[in-house]
Amino acid sequence: MQQNRQTELLIKELEEKYGEERTSMLVEYMDMILEKNQYINLTAVRDRDEALQKHIADSLSCDFMEEYEAAENVIDIGTGAGFPGVPLAIVSPDKKFTLVDSLNKRLRIIDELTGELGIKNVTTVHGRAEDVGKSKEHREQYDICVSRAVASLDVLCEWCLPLVKKGGYFVAYKGENVSRETEDAANAIKLLGGKIAEIRKVQTEEESISGHVLVMIKKVKNTPSKYPRQAGQARKNPLR
Ligand code: SAM
Repeated sequence: MQQNRQTELLIKELEEKYGEERTSMLVEYMDMILEKNQYINLTAVRDRDEALQKHIADSLSCDFMEEYEAAENVIDIGTGAGFPGVPLAIVSPDKKFTLVDSLNKRLRIIDELTGELGIKNVTTVHGRAEDVGKSKEHREQYDICVSRAVASLDVLCEWCLPLVKKGGYFVAYKGENVSRETEDAANAIKLLGGKIAEIRKVQTEEESISGHVLVMIKKVKNTPSKYPRQAGQARKNPLR
């Protein structure tokens, strides 16, 4: 298949890090999503080279961190077509992944495609983050919660921090201009038992992804039981 120079570099970089088999699973997952995207709206990115950079490379940026390496289980809030959860699950077969979205249609596609690729460490959960965060099965059960392109940081903290175990991390995938969002989220982070540990710039060896940051929030205290508030409240009236 025709691909540009940046994609060739990305694939070489992935093969060196993860081996040929996992790299071809990553590329195949993206190809299958683009195929499905012709019939059901999964991503605004339609160009294959762009999709590999924007969805696969960006999703994997978490895998450069030692806090992620140490995690046994990971939850992805607002996973959509499986980003960043599915690429991370492909390269981390020893970790368990729970992928949450309020739109069941997208989750059924993830189930179908992960089944076809033989990916065994992914479970999908249909529901709103606010409800999942209240359930005993999921609350404070995860070493890492990730979320990409879902909501502003103050809203996301209320959805994600309740799911993280004390000592674990919420990792928000954000654009470069995140300082305003972190200022707005400062009070929410404190109220919910978190502390910003680091804001890490994302850069791969081949500079195939740049301009993104990972906001790493450490869970230092348990989240008070009143959070998350009822579904819809965090967006309507973010904790400030
Ligand atoms: N994370 C994916 C990515 O990076 O491509 C998808 C991003 S998409 C823009 C946002 C997703 O968040 C949608 O699939 C939407 O259904 C989901 N979402 C929005 N509000 C949510 C909520 N309260 N609970 C769970 N999922 C939610």
